[in-house]
Amino acid sequence: MLWTYDAWDTSPPVLPRPTRLYSLTPIGVGTPMVESLTGYVVRLAEAHCVSAGLLYWKEIRTLTGKGNIFTFRVTNGNGYSTHTINGLGAPAADFVRVLERLTGQHNLRVLTLLPWAQVLPKAGLLRRARAWCERCVQAWHQANQPLYEPLLWTLQAVTVCPYHQRPLCHQCPHCACPLGPLDWRSRSAYCSRCAHTLVPHAVESVHTLPSHDLQWATWVANACGDLLAATAQMDCPPARDRLAHTIGRCIEHTSAGNASAFARLLQVGRGDVSRWQRGKAVPRFTLLLRMAYGLRTSLLDFLLGSPGAMAAGGVVRAAPVALPSPTHRQTAQAGRRRNGPEVSRILHAALTENPPPSVRAVLKRLGDAASTVRYHFPDLCRTIARQHAEHRARCATVRKAHAAEEVRRVAYQLHAKGLRLTRQHIRPLLTSSDYLNLPEGRAALREVRSQLGLEDKNGHAPAPHNWGHG
Ligand SMILES: [Zn+2]
Ligand SMILES: [Zn+2]
Repeated sequence: MLWTYDAWDTSPPVLPRPTRLYSLTPIGVGTPMVESLTGYVVRLAEAHCVSAGLLYWKEIRTLTGKGNIFTFRVTNGNGYSTHTINGLGAPAADFVRVLERLTGQHNLRVLTLLPWAQVLPKAGLLRRARAWCERCVQAWHQANQPLYEPLLWTLQAVTVCPYHQRPLCHQCPHCACPLGPLDWRSRSAYCSRCAHTLVPHAVESVHTLPSHDLQWATWVANACGDLLAATAQMDCPPARDRLAHTIGRCIEHTSAGNASAFARLLQVGRGDVSRWQRGKAVPRFTLLLRMAYGLRTSLLDFLLGSPGAMAAGGVVRAAPVALPSPTHRQTAQAGRRRNGPEVSRILHAALTENPPPSVRAVLKRLGDAASTVRYHFPDLCRTIARQHAEHRARCATVRKAHAAEEVRRVAYQLHAKGLRLTRQHIRPLLTSSDYLNLPEGRAALREVRSQLGLEDKNGHAPAPHNWGHG
């Protein structure tokens, strides 16, 4: 009796293609708390035990062709806008392409707003600085779950956590600094400025929003969460003509087809509405939210133009629906125009402030009255502008001196350790990676090099002694 064994499988095993970086799986795809692309870069750096800055500088920079993105400043709005990496424009597309190539992951688009590029506006969508929910971070930390940065928190319209119904935090509790979405020293749930943890020891009961504001904020957060959750399941990106059609129906429902009345209702120009209807432009994100809310439909259905969203004969058709104003507070402000003495008092108060605010910042406080302030108070406005400019000049001088001093100190430290004084070595050790871009920082480096005999006064490396060919 012969025993029959199973045949051997001699076909070569299918191995995944080797990738330059770890093929890290994104967190939360298909849920409202899907990870953001900047947060993914930060976790990718942590997985390789290097800083986010170094990972970008060594692996991502040349492939994206973006240069130094760490010039971002939250406070004055200057520098590279790192928040656009999570957006729906070219920077997001470039980072997705490069990171997919480096990690072998296939669908990193869903970590950005790229799939919604046709139906969402480019401007005012994402906040420039990080925001986070302390309770979420604390809960993940206690449950030993990975800490990360959801895309939901990067949306400017989202002001509360939909799970904890608490306002999002915008400043490090230790150094009170706002944080950029992707800094050189970014780490999940750590401050990129002072390196302290953002996981709170105990969450105090901070002020909560008034109930009507909270209701609206929670609706917005949930609507945005649904949108992000649906991204992964979408077969094809939503098209603009569907949105144009939906807006047409919205006009029908709310203003009986009268586009001018609809424009007045939303406080926009008649031309804007016409462009939306022709698919030439997209309403601001807050307006899209208000329209969806007014039609008692989800933002998702509104943007997709789903047939079920506004079924004929439903609640919506029974009675015209009032569109909600963005918040109660803004409506109250819009209805009240400040008088002359009040404006004068605010302008005078701004003159004594330290640091001196810009004219634009002061005008923002004045709300509706701002439009005529420059006309009625030209001298006060000029003085405010001059004080602000002088303050900026003083800050710049201090910064330049600080840059030179720090570059000098770091350069000597590196030299003492026997390391070469290259920008790549020095940059990660500086408090601001921008210091080496300043002429003062570069001059300080040249000076140290020449003092150490590493180059002559003109910035050239000393000539080698021997040019022999043999
Ligand atoms: Zn939360
Ligand atoms: Zn901090």
